[in-house]
Amino acid sequence: MDIRNNIEFYRKQFASTECRLVAVSKTHPPEKINEAYLAGQRIFGENKVQELLAKQPVLPADIQWHLIGHLQTNKVKQVIPFVSLIHSVDSLKLLEEINKQAKKISQVVDCLLQVFIAREETKFGFDETELTELIQSEKIKSLDSIRILGLMGMATFTDNREQIRQEFRKLKALFEKLKIMNLPPHILMKELSMGMSQDYEIAVEEGSTLVRIGTSIFGTR
Ligand SMILES: *Cc1c(COP(=O)(O)O)cnc(C)c1O
Repeated sequence: MDIRNNIEFYRKQFASTECRLVAVSKTHPPEKINEAYLAGQRIFGENKVQELLAKQPVLPADIQWHLIGHLQTNKVKQVIPFVSLIHSVDSLKLLEEINKQAKKISQVVDCLLQVFIAREETKFGFDETELTELIQSEKIKSLDSIRILGLMGMATFTDNREQIRQEFRKLKALFEKLKIMNLPPHILMKELSMGMSQDYEIAVEEGSTLVRIGTSIFGTR
């Protein structure tokens, strides 16, 4: 894989859009991440806390680390000093723990709420009803050490492009619906994280602002 070339390819792809690239570096060593860094990439996505914590100190300090995988409550404390955005918040319990640990270190942690849009049983996330209720709840108003910047979703793993498009479209519609609600100041609907190597083109067409690409940049894992 020519990592530099790949980073430049996506930069050109997204130049005329609202979209930014999250280079998903999970399982790849720091040397490969550094190649992407030298090509100008600053946002990197990891899905495991231990791996993120191992890579962060050996790579440049101006990298913005995004956590994109399921986060267990007992790992929140360790990881929050080092993440600039958590894409994968999938329960109120997790949100409360992030808020609690963030408050202790006088930090405000940026999060996205993960929404379940796929027709698969295994994916994490809120459904539309749960999410709409959560966002309007009194509870969420009191969580002042987090900032919710938007939503994240993963489409079904399928060759059916039309199905993928429908799933992204559904997420975008929910995003727009929440956006016009009367939300507390720490809940903003401005980021929509959707799209991976296989389906990013559809995601961009459907309004993604953060695309998470691993394989097409760094090669197979
Ligand atoms: C691994 C991963 C990606 C990147 O997937 P690729 O197919 O390698 O581009 C994106 N999002 C999440 C949540 C992931 O775990």
